[in-house]
Amino acid sequence: MALILDSNNIKYNTEIITNGYALSDDKLSFLAMHNCEKIQITLDGCKEMHDSRRVFCNGKPTFEKIITNMHIALDNNYINKVSVRLNYDKQNVSSQVKLLDYLASEFDVNRIYISLGYVTDSAKEPSFDSYINNNIPGINKEHIEAYISLYIHAKQLGFKMKKYYAINGICISKRNHSILMCADGNYYKCGGLVGRDDHSVGKVGSTLIPQSYHYPELYDKCFDKKCEMIPLCHSGCRLDAFNLKGRLNALDCKYDLLKGINVALLRTNYVDIPSLKV
Ligand code: SF4
Repeated sequence: MALILDSNNIKYNTEIITNGYALSDDKLSFLAMHNCEKIQITLDGCKEMHDSRRVFCNGKPTFEKIITNMHIALDNNYINKVSVRLNYDKQNVSSQVKLLDYLASEFDVNRIYISLGYVTDSAKEPSFDSYINNNIPGINKEHIEAYISLYIHAKQLGFKMKKYYAINGICISKRNHSILMCADGNYYKCGGLVGRDDHSVGKVGSTLIPQSYHYPELYDKCFDKKCEMIPLCHSGCRLDAFNLKGRLNALDCKYDLLKGINVALLRTNYVDIPSLKV
């Protein structure tokens, strides 16, 4: 693909979302050669928590190897900043506080970009239901307070945090000319749908027809409500719409969550009241 783009004078950049375990020196060097602008690694908590949830089939832990690989990426300047996404749910919020402390002591806070992601229902298999029902906060005050407590702690440690909260906006799935390429050569529009064959939109070598999961008709209800969140939301998450309503082209409205967190962020960032009140 790089040869095709280079020979047609098309500038490109790349990003990777990874569990971080296999990010060896040679792979990082390869990514750097291909204009990699973002490496996002997800962590589920401090070592004990992460290694209780994110292990190999044989139970082998992964936390320390991921941290080593982050050092390789930063110490060799393969990338300027590593994005660390802290997945949180009811089970691991307090562990994510400890993880923030650890990351601030282990790395230069200016070279780590923190984002906070609540764990969502991304699979429909019934075997996941009990975990999801017991641990995913849902859109409620508890969820908003968990986000804000982690946000304030990260800010106090010196991490630069985004000043607003948006779940999707115009994400990759809503753009015409963006694709995700899976290791098996399949193309997808949405990261959450990777691996579901029926959602593949093409394959390496096939003709790629530009498409997007952006459905302008969904905005009618948003404008009817005079919703102030439209620039942050753009009709919601296509994956959540599919999982909750069975259709990619359904409205996915998380107004209470967007408003609750953004009001708290305004207070925290501009009124200087480090309050958890929402
Ligand atoms: S929060 Fe709801 S009403 Fe507002 S833009 Fe999003 S989907 Fe539309």
